Amino acid sequence: MEKDQYRPETNAVRIQTEKTWQMEHSTPLFLTSSFTYDSAEEMRATFADETDNNIYSRFSNPNVDEFVRKVCSLEQAEDGYATASGMSAIFASFMALMNAGDHLLSASSIFGSTHTVITKFLPKWGIEYTYFDINKPETVEALIKPNTKMMFVETPSNPGLEVVDISLLAKICDKHGVILNVDNCFASPVLQKPITLGAHIVTHSATKWMDGQGRVLGGVVVGRKDLIKEIHTFCRSTGPAISPFNAWVLSKSLETLHIRMARHCESALALAKALEGNPLLQWVKYPMLASHPQHEIAKAQMTAGGGIVCFELKGGLEQGTRFLDALKMLTLTANLGDSRSIASHPASTTHAKLSNEERLKVGITPGMIRISVGLENAQDIIDDINQALEISK
Ligand SMILES: *Cc1c(COP(=O)(O)O)cnc(C)c1O
Repeated sequence: MEKDQYRPETNAVRIQTEKTWQMEHSTPLFLTSSFTYDSAEEMRATFADETDNNIYSRFSNPNVDEFVRKVCSLEQAEDGYATASGMSAIFASFMALMNAGDHLLSASSIFGSTHTVITKFLPKWGIEYTYFDINKPETVEALIKPNTKMMFVETPSNPGLEVVDISLLAKICDKHGVILNVDNCFASPVLQKPITLGAHIVTHSATKWMDGQGRVLGGVVVGRKDLIKEIHTFCRSTGPAISPFNAWVLSKSLETLHIRMARHCESALALAKALEGNPLLQWVKYPMLASHPQHEIAKAQMTAGGGIVCFELKGGLEQGTRFLDALKMLTLTANLGDSRSIASHPASTTHAKLSNEERLKVGITPGMIRISVGLENAQDIIDDINQALEISK
């Protein structure tokens, strides 16, 4: 198969839509809602699934296919479907694979909107859920019920950078016939390939590291062929399709994903090391620091620590807002995984509506700052954070 032809970095560059008669080098944009046929017979055969021809861009499109083929190659997945955002990929993976009466077992440290889908919407359709503590994977098996259909986990988790052993969860899921769904957004397939560790499907917000430049929204779900077929059937009719333009941008972005991730990881490790031991901080968290609680697991299943570094300000909630105001270069914005470094303070922003106790349950302490390390010179990033720490103390 094409996806195994070269090494991953090369596949991310070389997997490409077939050239048109113009012999272009770079894949053109296929901005078209639908596709045409030369004959009634060809059209009939296409609708009967007897050809690989495209029909309508809600179902498939050459730019979208190219992006999906690359992600499948990078994730070592059999098949995939791309969506308009990470949330639509996650939502589709839930709705297509679970029925009323089924049970979802999910880690509690997950992205805010995923938490909303699980707690506010799934129960409306009779899908129940249980949260488990990602730091206590030994408690997970006992939470499986006869109707448990899926296990969902993010590793490293957003924003707390908690790490869980994917192969351990995969063994438990296989024993009980449960689908293991891993949100691999924080690691990207460059650093971690959950399918090779036993996950059945992998979901992504392509908005983050895959785009890497803060331009477009996108999502993708890849995995076992029979599961993706269900997801494709669901999406084809319900319409969360990605724009061909966004897919084109994202496919181009994947060509540089490996070199970008290498730089993000190198600078993030440098920042984590520079901050560790700073007397103004309670702690610094990064998967590749020996002090990370799951450092051994991170080392075993990730090739590097990723681009996010977290730390806790000794001055708590109040210092958090002072710290953001004191930054000169880092951006205050809701995104992550950008070429520009970003700082966020979850307790005063994304998680401000929760009580202190609720925040602690999902790993968010009052003075926690999350840094998405960009592609600027690492020393400029470190200098800006250090001067803001001094001013805000
Ligand atoms: C951002 C994010 C999502 C949601 O993705 P969108 O593209 O914003 O819809 C899901 N999971 C994680 C871990 C994220 O960081």
